Amino acid sequence: MGLPACTNGPPCGKARGWSAPPPTCPIAYLRAVAKRILITGGAGFIGSAVSAYLVAQGHEVGILDNLSFGRRELAPVPDGRFMQVDIRDAAGTRAAMGDMSPHWVVHLAAVHFIPYCNQHPTEAADININGTIHVLDAAAATPGVEQVFVASTAAVYPIAEGALGESHPTGPLDIYGTTKLACERIAQAFHGTTGIPAVVGRFFNAFGPNETNPHLIPEIQRQVLAGARNLRLGNLDPKRDFIHTEDMARAMAALLEAGITGYEVFNIGRGIEYSVREVVEAFERQLGESLSIEVDPARVRKVERMHLLADVSKLKARTGWVPRRDIDEGVATLLQSDRPVFR
Ligand code: NAD
Repeated sequence: MGLPACTNGPPCGKARGWSAPPPTCPIAYLRAVAKRILITGGAGFIGSAVSAYLVAQGHEVGILDNLSFGRRELAPVPDGRFMQVDIRDAAGTRAAMGDMSPHWVVHLAAVHFIPYCNQHPTEAADININGTIHVLDAAAATPGVEQVFVASTAAVYPIAEGALGESHPTGPLDIYGTTKLACERIAQAFHGTTGIPAVVGRFFNAFGPNETNPHLIPEIQRQVLAGARNLRLGNLDPKRDFIHTEDMARAMAALLEAGITGYEVFNIGRGIEYSVREVVEAFERQLGESLSIEVDPARVRKVERMHLLADVSKLKARTGWVPRRDIDEGVATLLQSDRPVFR
């Protein structure tokens, strides 16, 4: 998986792990440093980007997803590495994890579109909280798991001005943020009882190809690619920290490779915020056409934050990561992509 067959002689038998001395044979070197990585939610928007990135890095990636929001064709692994399992099924999750015996577990599976979570709070709590308990219980029961990464969200922060650092007090506004804060606590308890390193990534607003939920940018993309030049959108003034999924995938890979030994939380954002109007202006620049905006009352949120900006200095200091895609480049890739398909 992800590595070519070694034709340089018999298997070198090097132990997996970073501590193995780098062999001179490049394929043996890759085999020595490559990890088996189980990614839950790997058929989704962010999961497909991070899976593809880790496969390209030479890791062996397996994906566990129930395909409720994700799509099989987005998961960049062959059938033998794809497990259609629901994380609400504790036994099924444990069996899939045991079969694969991963070194690293990256847990992204969740429901997260805030309007969907508001309409289905019990389902959101069951998948996000109980599902996380099942995934981490399975990781604890599987010999050889070296670390876990758990996806959280900027929605754990309260309404605030200015860039939010990881030490800012939490205070989610909605059921989604509440379930994700619970995931953080579950990851912390997992580390406390198992000693296995647990890294939490608080994702800010991701954008890029293959969106699965009708967030702002894919909604603009969908309307523009359908030929609309008068866009129907919700509130125009809130600002968000939009990070391209390629940059997010590199940040997650950098954290996985950072050798974190305890329980740690990292913001994953771009460190720049854009208003809805500014995002529309980026589309105008890339299209070379002007767009008008009509506020659709049905899309206006009752409780709205005006700012959500990441302080990413901890991520940068610990990994050397820097974002590469700016908003214009990202929008350009969206205009070249297919129209997004939402559930
Ligand atoms: P997504 O909906 O595309 O991905 C989630 C994946 O989980 C989907 O493939 C879905 O099929 C799968 N899934 C859902 N319920 C499941 C279940 N019960 N069992 C197994 N699989 C299940 O969303 P995404 O944007 O890729 O989000 C990935 C992670 O990032 C989530 O944990 C989300 O909370 C977090 N996050 C995303 C954003 C963002 O801007 N997209 C922001 C903050 C946090």
